Amino acid sequence: MSDNKTVTAGTLMKGKRGLVLGIATERSIAYGIAQALAAQGAELAVTYQVDQLAGRVTSLAQGLGASIIQHVDVQNQVNLDQLFATIAGQWGSLDFLVHSIAFSDRKELEGQYANTTRANFLNTMDVSCYSFTDLARRSAALMPNGGSMITLTYLGGERVLPHYNVMGVAKAALQASVRYLAADLGPQRIRVNAISAGPVKTLAASGISDFRFIMRWNEINAPLRRNITTVEAGNTALFLLSDLGTGITGETVHVDAGYHILGMMSVEGAPEVADLLIRMKAEKQK
Ligand code: NAP
Repeated sequence: MSDNKTVTAGTLMKGKRGLVLGIATERSIAYGIAQALAAQGAELAVTYQVDQLAGRVTSLAQGLGASIIQHVDVQNQVNLDQLFATIAGQWGSLDFLVHSIAFSDRKELEGQYANTTRANFLNTMDVSCYSFTDLARRSAALMPNGGSMITLTYLGGERVLPHYNVMGVAKAALQASVRYLAADLGPQRIRVNAISAGPVKTLAASGISDFRFIMRWNEINAPLRRNITTVEAGNTALFLLSDLGTGITGETVHVDAGYHILGMMSVEGAPEVADLLIRMKAEKQK
């Protein structure tokens, strides 16, 4: 079997142009996706939000041959209008959209969900859920010949997971919007799907309390006994965005080493889980 960290070169995306939002670093899930797409011949438009990351994202995007690189805050309508005007002017049309964006106040990704503030609830929903609907509508207007869109979600949108709190509620709404968008846009031959990724150490994930433990827990218990790579998320994105996935829409595909199927944790992993919990308790008591 091939290495799960290397992309495969080919022509599956030759002639296709797409927009990728959510590359912050080389560890970003969006970067793994962009790598897999570029290696198969896709032409990319890439955005970044924070000015401090502009240099890093620009050099990563240039390394993938991106022809449009633009600053976009998905909460800023002027930024979005400018982005879509650039794409319309430079390309005329769009074949795919990758939405790999989420945000919540990290102070509310610990403690109880019940304590979520109205302000952070609305902001989390706006950035992490509504932005996909907004981008989907704008992208669909540039897809006269059909297209494919994906967003990134997490199991915390389907089940209660520690500390995911309001982000879990936003991901549940995001997965529901994938189904509604798939129904709306299907007649235009536009497919809409979600990838539910297992835990990956990224900037966004560092905001979730005890994330190191969540990763280790997944590694001990997931059927494949490991965590995923961003390239594995990328290869699944490639499948959904290319003509290999033409029969699939409204779906959430889990790329999580199988963790989501479990009803009980691994019995053989119990001693390791016990060690993990003892270390975690000791760290919290420090
Ligand atoms: P990441 O590298 O930190 O990417 C998150 C991206 O969201 C960053 O590029 C960030 O831009 C962008 N963003 C946040 N607010 C924005 C705004 N207002 N406008 C435009 N961009 C904004 O982390 P990631 O883990 O790859 O996250 C990508 C997606 O995967 C998210 O939807 C996340 O929930 C999902 N996911 C992650 C995991 C995981 O374990 N890492 C698992 C399942 C699903 P700036 O950095 O410039 O602010």
